[in-house]
Amino acid sequence: MTDDCYAWLEQSLKTIHRADWYRSVQTIHGGAGATVVLQGNEVINFASNDYLGLAGDDRLIQAATTAIQDFGTGSTGSRLLSGHRELHCDLETAIAELKTTEDALVFSSGYLANLGAVTAVVGKRDVILSDEYNHSSLKNGAILSGAAVVEYPHCDAAALKSKLEEIRQNYRRCLIITDSVFSMDGDLCPLPTLLDIAEEFSCMLLVDEAHATGVLGETGAGCVEYFGCTSKQLIQVGTLSKALGSLGGYVAGSTALIDFLRNRAPSWIYTTALSPSDTAAALQAIKIVKEEPHRRSQLWKNINYLKDLMSDLPNLKILPSESAIICFQLASAAQALKIGNYLKESGIFAPAIRPPTVPTSRIRISLMATHQPSHIEKLVEVLKNFN
Ligand SMILES: *Cc1c(COP(=O)(O)O)cnc(C)c1O
Repeated sequence: MTDDCYAWLEQSLKTIHRADWYRSVQTIHGGAGATVVLQGNEVINFASNDYLGLAGDDRLIQAATTAIQDFGTGSTGSRLLSGHRELHCDLETAIAELKTTEDALVFSSGYLANLGAVTAVVGKRDVILSDEYNHSSLKNGAILSGAAVVEYPHCDAAALKSKLEEIRQNYRRCLIITDSVFSMDGDLCPLPTLLDIAEEFSCMLLVDEAHATGVLGETGAGCVEYFGCTSKQLIQVGTLSKALGSLGGYVAGSTALIDFLRNRAPSWIYTTALSPSDTAAALQAIKIVKEEPHRRSQLWKNINYLKDLMSDLPNLKILPSESAIICFQLASAAQALKIGNYLKESGIFAPAIRPPTVPTSRIRISLMATHQPSHIEKLVEVLKNFN
């Protein structure tokens, strides 16, 4: 009888297969970069979030190696017990400087940063207004917080406003949460309008800058900087694992916010501190983001070059994008898989993204500063030949 209570697993897997929703891992050999070896074949890599090409940078590798030699492989405890090092402090100062906030706090991943921030600032008597396309970490943070959760249609400020008119007075605190660059679409949230609405209805606003940090804004601080909203009161979350080429996440904001999180964010308090090597690599990456703005301008050259070339492919339904993420939509999950496999056979790594991650299947292309023009030309050539 005990066997039976696990039988549903096989059944569920069959259903997942039938819908063409089944996923499995694929092995990459060797280092990170604009080209990688995928299952034995060299492919041009349009699948990584390594926007500035820093994950394989010698200076990050050196910083991480030195940190391991100096401090060991693990941080050995949570930040409030034995895990805190000077490196964490240096990294948090560097993040706060980049974001021009009073303070910052690093978490062991961006996912944990969102869980920690959302669950700390709202609870049962409160409400969260959430963009329907938000990242999983924001959605799950919202559920975990115990607050009432109301989703608003994607980037629809008017709908957000009318929801608030209807329900704001029923709750104590209100938190609006949104990706700044939407991770599976590449478009931007209407940040200035969201800030106005937040002010009008006395709501806190949390923006997730995971795909914007290092990519958008004059100094690479992200979408907040890009929209000229740096001086506004905000909860800014992000990751160290995309443009910054390391692992970990952060929250940046006021002294009071960060101090409160150190006391009330369970995903920071009850987990082991970021490892010395990840911390040192991220610190080095922020230095490079500041000192080498040409990486960001090269990334944008590549983005614009691809968009230019893709305008010659009228059959592709390209989704609106203002970031390094460019997607084209497909009729079905099966079609997305077919094109994904065709691309791979043609030496291009660009993954098919399917439900339930997104409502409609698509191919997602991520650009890097280290892509060569020939890489981008090859992608477009291969797409042109698909029928
Ligand atoms: C990747 C991502 C995260 C999670 O960051 P990790 O550091 O990978 O855990 C959070 N939010 C968004 C929008 C993301 O794309």
